[in-house]
Amino acid sequence: MEKEKKQLFILKESLEDRIGKKLHLKINDNRSTMLSVKWEADCTRVSLHRMFLKAPLKVMQDLTGYLKQEKKNLTPDVKAYIEKSLQTFDYSHQLDLKKLQVKGKEYHLQSIYDQLNEEYFEKKLKLSITWFGNKKRANRSRITFGLYYDPLKLIKINRLLDQPYFPIYFVRYVVYHEMLHYVCPTYVDERGVKQIHSKEFKTKEKEFKEFEQAQSWMRQNQNNIFSLSSAI
Ligand SMILES: [Zn+2]
Repeated sequence: MEKEKKQLFILKESLEDRIGKKLHLKINDNRSTMLSVKWEADCTRVSLHRMFLKAPLKVMQDLTGYLKQEKKNLTPDVKAYIEKSLQTFDYSHQLDLKKLQVKGKEYHLQSIYDQLNEEYFEKKLKLSITWFGNKKRANRSRITFGLYYDPLKLIKINRLLDQPYFPIYFVRYVVYHEMLHYVCPTYVDERGVKQIHSKEFKTKEKEFKEFEQAQSWMRQNQNNIFSLSSAI
């Protein structure tokens, strides 16, 4: 902690020097704010994730340019650094395992996950899984079936899928897809574009044995899914 305080002091001094303006600098260790900046008349307020304490020079130079408002957007180097570092931070110990809901009415997420882990990943993945949401809230233009939250190593599957209408292979497919997000992490390419479903991801996705089946079920049912909420 002492060391970080010292690092923070040095960082603040050197950034202030380069920006030529008073700086309110806070280093955070939270899961969602990597960088937030407020430009005020007499000072610049910055909250930086502690990952920046170890950032390479190029990243800090680019960041300085951004804080000075010389650059309107973060550079690809900064974005890539954030994305890459984020994956090295593991906040899964903050996860309250008691709150995970793995049992559904129709499907047991933990057993689906365990089977997939054995079948495709040699049981090597150590992720958590839970249902999220409410079955009845499907009447939207877009539905998120599943998501993977990297800092907590947590997969969340929409509770909407917990009904016999959804075939087991489709639920397995959604879980498999989210597991792949851990295996093929999101990265920022040289153009600064976030690659969420990279080429490698898509290739691996097709290794899922019921991939075609799940895709065609999805195509045939997508219109129904949106109106499901009125049916249940
Ligand atoms: Zn995805």
